[in-house]
Amino acid sequence: ALHINEIQKYFGALLVLDGVSLDIAQSEVVAVIGRSGSGKSTMLRCINGLEKIQAGSIEVAGHRIGPQGGDLRSLRKEVGMVFQSYNLFPHLTVLENVTLAPKVVKGVGREEAEAIAHDVLRRVGLAEKSGAYSDELSGGQQQRVAIARSLAMQPKVMLFDEVTSALDPELTGEVLKTMEELADAGMTMVLVTHEMGFARQVADRTVFMHKGKVWEQGPSEELFSYPQTPELRNFIAPNL
Ligand code: ATP
Ligand code: MG
Repeated sequence: ALHINEIQKYFGALLVLDGVSLDIAQSEVVAVIGRSGSGKSTMLRCINGLEKIQAGSIEVAGHRIGPQGGDLRSLRKEVGMVFQSYNLFPHLTVLENVTLAPKVVKGVGREEAEAIAHDVLRRVGLAEKSGAYSDELSGGQQQRVAIARSLAMQPKVMLFDEVTSALDPELTGEVLKTMEELADAGMTMVLVTHEMGFARQVADRTVFMHKGKVWEQGPSEELFSYPQTPELRNFIAPNL
């Protein structure tokens, strides 16, 4: 579903992604872990075409981008991304937030957009909140609306960048549960997370990034149980 082939990303003279390759199969769930500054968010932003790459290529659902660019618009329609900050429109209801992009970007009609919205809101457990405004929702609920908003575009791949980091601990669980249900439903997912327990239990594979490289990767249970490099051992030691 997703092929990342030897990509390099520079910010000025700083090499932030140094020959990263990853192949992610359909319905595979991949967790990305690593220290601050190791390039995790940058990799997700490259996958979504938010950052230009200087070498290599990325293919999603038949769309390819490289240093010369590519069909960014088509690629973005296939890739959904959810961030730490959910940025819902405060003057719109939940339903309006979720129907906006399908209507504006894809030209989906109102009735169909609302049918899709009701479906995705049900999937994130917020069917009964479609008329609410964001200030009437908890942080966890707002983040789940943000996930629904992304799902409404019917992406082939979903990217999550530390979506629970800004939440109070008691709200983290409901968002993780939503993501686990998506995973169980067969969504192809790449998730950057500090929740090591979640990575270990839910992700088929975990990728450890270090200094802009895929330093080590493997089936999650194996990677956490038998880290091969000192860098990964040091990174996960505090969590054991
Ligand atoms: P964290 O766990 O803190 O979120 P990360 O692994 O997501 O870290 P990135 O945000 O990908 O790290 O950043 C990787 C490197 O790229 C860092 O050195 C960062 O300072 C640098 N960087 C990121 N975005 C930019 C930018 N827009 N301009 C310049 N440098 C940047
Ligand atoms: Mg980051």
